[in-house]
This record gives sequence, structure tokens and C-alpha cells, in this order.
Amino acid sequence: MQLTANRATCIGAGQCVFTDPDAFDQDDDGLVLVLRPEPAATEEIARATEAVHVCPSRSLRLVESAP
Ligand code: SF4
Repeated sequence: MQLTANRATCIGAGQCVFTDPDAFDQDDDGLVLVLRPEPAATEEIARATEAVHVCPSRSLRLVESAP
């Protein structure tokens, strides 16, 4: 899976970091940084999916990796 973030729309709410601190961080301006862009384990994908759902600005995407 590919986990990406749109930093242009991120509002720095930090919900993603709270949900999955292993996969996300925030820079000095509070904008999201993706630490784990290719979640593979079931648990990693589950938490990434939850983060996508809780992001208030819909800035996160989780899609299938290209074959
Ligand atoms: S939850 Fe969304 S808006 Fe908040 S820091 Fe993460 S990507 Fe940005």
C-alpha cells in the first residue's frame, strides 16, 4: 500500500500523529510528515486506514501500490 499526504491541505491538526505515531510526524510548522509511506503489515495498514479517516482536512490517502 502507498500512504501519502497532501501537505498543501494539511491544517496541522495532528490527529494522524495521535492515531499512528510510527507512521506520521509533524514538521516545525505542524504540517504532516509521512514516516512510513509503504505500510505492509496488517496492523500498519489498519492504523494507516484509521488515520485517513480521522484526518479533518482529508489530506491523507492510502492506495494500492502500483504492480
Ligand atoms: S490529521 Fe490531517 S490535517 Fe492533521 S496533521 Fe495529519 S494530515 Fe494534517
